[in-house]
Amino acid sequence: MSAPVLPIADARRVARAAGRLIAADRWAAAGILLLNVLAAVAALGAPYLLGRIVDAVTGPGAAARIDLLAGAVVLCALAQTVLARTALLLGYRFGERTAARIRVGFLSRALSLPASVVERVPPGDLAARGTTDVDAVAGTLRDVLPGVFVAGVQALFLVGAVLVLDPLLGVAGLLGLSGIVVTGRWYLRRARGAYLEEGAANSELAEELAATTAGARTIEAFRLHRSRLAVGRAAIARTRRSRLATLRLRSVYFPAAEGSYNIPVVLVLLIGGLLQRDGRVTLGTVVAATLYLRQLIGPMDTILIWLEQLQSSGASFARVEGLAAVPAEPATAAAAPDGDRIEVRGVSYAYPGGPDVLHDVDLTVQPGERLAIVGLSGAGKSTLGRLLAGVDRPRTGTVTVGGVAVADLPPDLLRRQVVLVTQEHHVFRETVRDNLIVPAPDERLAAALRTVGADWADDLDADLGEHPPTGAQAQQLALARVLLADPHTVILDEATALLDPRAARAAERALAAVLHQRTVIAIAHRLQTAHDADRIAVMDGGRIIEVGTHDELITHDGPYARLWRQWHGG
Ligand code: ADP
Repeated sequence: MSAPVLPIADARRVARAAGRLIAADRWAAAGILLLNVLAAVAALGAPYLLGRIVDAVTGPGAAARIDLLAGAVVLCALAQTVLARTALLLGYRFGERTAARIRVGFLSRALSLPASVVERVPPGDLAARGTTDVDAVAGTLRDVLPGVFVAGVQALFLVGAVLVLDPLLGVAGLLGLSGIVVTGRWYLRRARGAYLEEGAANSELAEELAATTAGARTIEAFRLHRSRLAVGRAAIARTRRSRLATLRLRSVYFPAAEGSYNIPVVLVLLIGGLLQRDGRVTLGTVVAATLYLRQLIGPMDTILIWLEQLQSSGASFARVEGLAAVPAEPATAAAAPDGDRIEVRGVSYAYPGGPDVLHDVDLTVQPGERLAIVGLSGAGKSTLGRLLAGVDRPRTGTVTVGGVAVADLPPDLLRRQVVLVTQEHHVFRETVRDNLIVPAPDERLAAALRTVGADWADDLDADLGEHPPTGAQAQQLALARVLLADPHTVILDEATALLDPRAARAAERALAAVLHQRTVIAIAHRLQTAHDADRIAVMDGGRIIEVGTHDELITHDGPYARLWRQWHGG
């Protein structure tokens, strides 16, 4: 399994992101806060009034006063219900809007990830973050956060009310609560790590399953069943371990928390009883304090139950926000390229976590030149092609076009300079027009499609999601994109290798039209391509070991000459 390349946001970044989300909807947030405070105040009424009723029973003129107090209890309860419901409703709406913001934010961040990162991250990780994690955060925002918020405000007011009623009783109640705080802290300290591990394990499982399904043919062909099964089992085992770990945490935490609820109530009853016997508080006050602490159980329960979901979706939020921590491509091409010359100077390159696969490569490509890069498989040709096209940046050294680092060019400027054409032609499930990517008038789009022989695509509004093009048609689309982008340099990596022979001739013609009057760097897998080029660079073991024209290299009788003789069966 490759190391996770996508970062996870730290607590500070998560807090800042949450702050921004609240600020984006601050009026709603303020309204919710106000309603909650009012509801919490109303909730304080009933226990207090009940305490007064207890005192009134023992006083003169009891019946009339009790009726009045009982009426007030009903009013308070009614007000509290209405206020709390309204606050919750506003909270749900706030949650939905915020969830939508997170989804949009995630999508736009995923789309603006540097290509080099997207190509390297395990696709399952990005998918898991975009689905499971975003859903978890959205669900929490909608259902959990408003509830926890209401409960939190209520709990604060209840504790405050006991303190005001009688400071000594209040302190006793607070001391009794400390058991819950201790278990809560114990849990919280372990939960973040455990839930992050659970998320990572889920990602890995999704990733391995996707890889196995996508590679089904390869697995058949190379009989990799056993090893894939082993990999799948390992991923499942990790998921199981991580889920058991979080389950263990829960199974310790919940019973302990439940037990500690009763401690404050017991304490207040004991101490209140003593105080009342000495005549220092009325019976009604003890009753009210006990009721407040009993009432505390509701909100505390809500908080404790949801705390765990808050934790796990906090971990999800950290994974979602982690995307923002990917260093953006420095799109700070201060200068526009001056000229079309491509220069590679002292370049070495390593894939993440691997050894150098290019060593100290120097190469200059003149405008209009046709350069072929040849060499055995694994020599580093494709890697050099990716650096030349600005897909990756070199570890050391520079790759420049017109004096500007290619990888620093913003996308729209880059594609007017250098375009890499590979075997992979992605077709989006959109119209022909959208698939051509480069915005241009319809006549230009149609002309480009004609030039590459894509007569089938006469309707620019045809939906390619409904009528998926064949491989050859997809390639024509790719070539039309190049024509429209109109770069001065095209890098061809095995562009026609996959086509069936009937389509190949047409494709060759289309390709010739696309390459007309451009600099061409061909990663040549057939030596005929090399023979026709102006100049040939021979690669071996990540180095350029020979450069020259076909005739020069044959005369020189070095590696290229040997390759050429082999190819001719001589
Ligand atoms: P060529 O195009 O000449 O066949 P490549 O540029 O594809 O050679 O590969 C050069 C070296 O880089 C090889 O050792 C290959 O294993 C390694 N390599 C290629 N792609 C990757 C990758 N995505 N991750 C890690 N190593 C890679």
